[in-house]
Amino acid sequence: MKKDDLIEVTIEDLSEEGTGIGKFEGMTFFIKDAVIGDRVRAKIMKLKKTYGFARLMEVLTPSPDRVEPLCPVARQCGGCQIQAMSYEAQLAFKTRKVESNLKRIGKFEEIPMESIIGMEDPFHYRNKAQFPFGKNRDGKIITGFYAGRTHSIIENTSCHLGKEVNEEILEKILAWMNAFHVEPYNEATGKGLMRHSLIRCGFRTGEIMVCLVINGRKIPGEEALVDSLKIIPGMTSISLNVNKEKTNVILGREVINLWGRPYIEDYIGEVKYQISPLSFFQVNPVQTERLYGKALEYAGLTGEETVWDLYCGIGTISLFLARKARKVYGVEIIPDAIEDARRNASLNGFTNTEFYVGKAEEVLPEKYEKEGVRADVIVVDPPRKGCDETLLSTMVKMQPERIVYVSCDSATLARDLRYLCDNGYELKRVCPADMFPQTVHVETCVLLSKPG
Ligand code: SAH
Repeated sequence: MKKDDLIEVTIEDLSEEGTGIGKFEGMTFFIKDAVIGDRVRAKIMKLKKTYGFARLMEVLTPSPDRVEPLCPVARQCGGCQIQAMSYEAQLAFKTRKVESNLKRIGKFEEIPMESIIGMEDPFHYRNKAQFPFGKNRDGKIITGFYAGRTHSIIENTSCHLGKEVNEEILEKILAWMNAFHVEPYNEATGKGLMRHSLIRCGFRTGEIMVCLVINGRKIPGEEALVDSLKIIPGMTSISLNVNKEKTNVILGREVINLWGRPYIEDYIGEVKYQISPLSFFQVNPVQTERLYGKALEYAGLTGEETVWDLYCGIGTISLFLARKARKVYGVEIIPDAIEDARRNASLNGFTNTEFYVGKAEEVLPEKYEKEGVRADVIVVDPPRKGCDETLLSTMVKMQPERIVYVSCDSATLARDLRYLCDNGYELKRVCPADMFPQTVHVETCVLLSKPG
C-alpha cells in the first residue's frame, strides 16, 4: 500500500469533523465527503502506521442515506459537513454519537435517552451570517465563504443555512462596491476597505441588521448604500464596524451607526433581547427555545427555587428560568455578556436575577464557602472543554436537588457526568437537540438528581 494507490472502502463511521471513516486491509482511512454506508473508491493521500487519509474519487455504491446536497458548493465550503446525508440519518448519527460517548467515556450502561429534538425545516435556520469579501482570479469582487480550513473565498451569496434575504443584501453591497470602486480587504497586504458584512435577522420580529466591517472609519457613497439597503422590508439597523487590525478576528470594537437603531430585537420564548453588532446571540433561535425549554422542564421549577446558571452568557437560560424560579444567579466570564444579561433582565422586567462576572469555578466556590449560598437547581452550559473539576466538586458539596447539564460536546459531557454520578448523583434523562443541522455538531440536555 502506498501513496496515490486507489482503494475501495465501505464507510462505517464519521469523525468529529464529519470525515468518513472506513477500513482497508486493517488500516483505518479518513475520507472527506463520504457518507456512512457509502462504498467508495478513494486515492491514498497520506499514510501513517495504522491509519491514512484518502481522497474521495468515486461513490461506487451510494449509501441509502446519501442525498443530493441542496447547495452546489457544499463540498468546497467548510460550513456544512454532512449535507450529503438525509436529515433523518443526520439525526440518527447525532443520537448515536451522544449515546456512544456516554457509554464509552462515561461508562454508563443504561442511558435514559429521549428522542432527539430535530427541526421541521433543517435549512434557513441561522439568524446571523458573516460574509468575507475578496477578488477572484479575474479581479472580480466576490463574496461567499472560506473554503474549509483556508482563507480562499468560495463565491456564494445564497447559503441555504441563512435567511433568503441575505442574497439581496449582498447583491446590493456588491453593486455599491462596484459603483464606488470600493476595494475588498486583502489579508496579505492589509490594504483594501471592505472586510466582511455581518447580517442578523430577528426571526420573530422580522427586523434586519446590516453591519459592514471595514478597514477604516468612512465609506464612499454612504448615502447610496444606505438608500439601497433601507428599502428592504424589515431593515432596522445599518452600521459600520471599524477593524484596522491585521487579524483573523472579524469584528473590531467600534461601531458607527449609519441609519436606524443601533440594535435589532428578537425573542427566545417570551423573553425579548436587544442585539447589537457586537453582542452574542444564539444563532438558531428556534432550536434554542426548544433546547432551553427542555432545560426548563428538567429543572422542574415550582416558583420557590434558588437556581444557579453557570456559564450563563447573555443570560438566555437564566431569563428562561427566572419566570418560574424564586431567584436565579448567573455566572459568566465575559464582562460584555454579563452587561447584556443585566440589560435584558431589566428590559423584560425581571427583578429576581443577579449576575456575576468571573470564572464559574472561582465564583461558585467562593460564594459557597464564604457566603454559604445554596441552590435547589444548578444549570451548567459550558464551552466544549466542559466543566472544571473544582466547579463539579463544589456543585456536589452544595447538594442541589437537580443538576441540568446543557452541553455542546458529548465527550466532555460524558466525563463530567461520570464525576457527578461517582459522587452521588443519578443520571435521569438525556435529550439530544439539533441546533446546527447539516453540521456534525450536537447539543445535549441532561437531568441529574440527588437520590432519594
Ligand atoms: N447559555 C448561554 C451560552 C453559554 S456558551 C447563552 O445562551 O448565552 C458558554 C459560555 O461560557 C460562553 O459565554 C463563555 O464565555 C463562558 N465561559 C467560558 N469559560 C467560562 C468559565 N470558566 N466560567 C464562566 N463562564 C465561562
